[in-house]
Amino acid sequence: MVRKPVNEIKLKFPSLSVNEKYARLAISGFIGLYDPRIDELSDIKTAVSEAVTNCIVHAYRNEVGDIELSAKAFPDGLIYIKIKDHGCGIEDVKKAMEPLFTTLADEERSGLGFSVMESFCDSVKVRSRPGCGTTVTLTKRLRTRIE
Ligand code: ATP
Ligand code: MG
Repeated sequence: MVRKPVNEIKLKFPSLSVNEKYARLAISGFIGLYDPRIDELSDIKTAVSEAVTNCIVHAYRNEVGDIELSAKAFPDGLIYIKIKDHGCGIEDVKKAMEPLFTTLADEERSGLGFSVMESFCDSVKVRSRPGCGTTVTLTKRLRTRIE
């Protein structure tokens, strides 16, 4: 069965560090339409912020490139969020997702971004190709029904 979202947004913005805040505000605005609980909203904002920060600091390390943020809301309360970049990509996704793994240890990164996304969302999927970019898909089910 193909389910249709009740609502969806698609945004594209450059990988400037100020846009980590923009992404948090944008996703809050969308989720806020559906009466989320405060903890649900905060979990989603934190997970999106980790994924967008990764695009800014890793994918486009010495350049500025486009980040695409899209979100869909389904009637059963499911929220589906995609964060996509066309940056450097990840050689070994399984390894990158291990807690404490980081390629930027000298810059005080702790390697916990993916772990945070996994603990705050119902599912996290990462597709990546070195040289082509990375897509992170997050899902979380709100306890409200979406009309
Ligand atoms: P922290 O998030 O705790 O500041 P971190 O960003 O290194 O540290 P994760 O967010 O878990 O930790 O990411 C793990 C590793 O995966 C990164 O160090 C980086 O090598 C790689 N990575 C993550 N996202 C991307 C991306 N969008 N493009 C390229 N590499 C990425
Ligand atoms: Mg990170």
